[in-house]
Amino acid sequence: MNKKAAVIPGDGIGPEVVGAMLEVLRSCNTGIEIIECEAGSEQWERNGRRDSTYIPEATSQVLGECGACFKGPTTTIPEPGAPRSVAVTLRQRFELYANVRPVRTYERITPGRDLDFVCFREATEGLYAGVESDVGPGAAIAIRKVTRRGCDRLLDAAARWAVERGMSRMVAITKRNILKKTDGIFWESARRAAGAAGLGVDEIYIDNMAQQMVLRPEQFNGAVLASTNLFMDIISELASGLAGSIGLIYSANIGDAFAMFEAAHGSAPDIAGRGAANPAAAILSGAWMAGHMGEADVRDAIFSAAEQVINGGGAVTADIGGSATTSQMSAAIAGAAAASLRR
Ligand code: NAD
Repeated sequence: MNKKAAVIPGDGIGPEVVGAMLEVLRSCNTGIEIIECEAGSEQWERNGRRDSTYIPEATSQVLGECGACFKGPTTTIPEPGAPRSVAVTLRQRFELYANVRPVRTYERITPGRDLDFVCFREATEGLYAGVESDVGPGAAIAIRKVTRRGCDRLLDAAARWAVERGMSRMVAITKRNILKKTDGIFWESARRAAGAAGLGVDEIYIDNMAQQMVLRPEQFNGAVLASTNLFMDIISELASGLAGSIGLIYSANIGDAFAMFEAAHGSAPDIAGRGAANPAAAILSGAWMAGHMGEADVRDAIFSAAEQVINGGGAVTADIGGSATTSQMSAAIAGAAAASLRR
């Protein structure tokens, strides 16, 4: 297996949390060859806003030589004419159709709330297809692209995930009463994929889903939740909030030939450069990448070290009730992970 990983520090808090992630992997003596490369809006600004993309050519070349990528959070400038998001570009370029976010809670942070489910978001189509046009003065449209191929590959991956982990249920989130054609394709594909895998499947409309997530999120425990790009972007972020902090939510973008790992959060410019960012999401995404690249022992050691530190509460950042800096928290996780690998 190609054990080279491209690592993009990114913007805002990116370099802080990606540095923390690398420290933890190195403390576990990872055999992955790390190649750091630039992408994002800060390097784009430094280069005089010349490029049409946030991903320089040299980085594209490195990505092509690697088996996986770790992407730090990157800022997307919300102006017409500015480049499109790094994450969206890479998901489309490498056909990383499944954006997977496991959501779980930690006893110390949310006592009395025990959540454990996974969100599967279609990551190459939907409203992120990026097709928008003006249709008259003060009027514009955006295309919501949904294809059977796009749905099938996502929902088959979601069903495989469920079967491999002994989960018995899929929940498809749609708005089929309004979006009859696009969500019609999604729902048909979900029924087929779940049926073929022997899973139960329920459909729930996005508006009700938001309410149910707030009222009684435990009902989704043990289920794989699946939806189109924008719906699941929002629902998985809502779920992240229920877990106590977006700084805990790790994710992967998985395709047939490449995978990209990243924290679910963004570049958090409001706390950048202060050592206040929770590094857990980046560290856990890095651990997942290690497992994906054949280092299951490293992955498991980091996951249990992070759980120990997060539940311990002594060396954690302010978003989850502590007063530690990013690097104090990552040092605690690195120490615990390395110690468990030595045992
Ligand atoms: P954000 O996730 O950056 O921040 C939302 C809130 O969560 C902020 O209050 C922030 O301080 C807090 N937060 C985020 N990460 C944290 C961490 N690790 N520890 C503690 N607190 C944390 O979302 P936003 O403000 O909507 O977006 C900021 C920028 O990030 C935008 O340019 C957006 O496009 C980009 N973004 C990138 C990605 C990505 O790279 N995949 C994802 C989401 C947003």
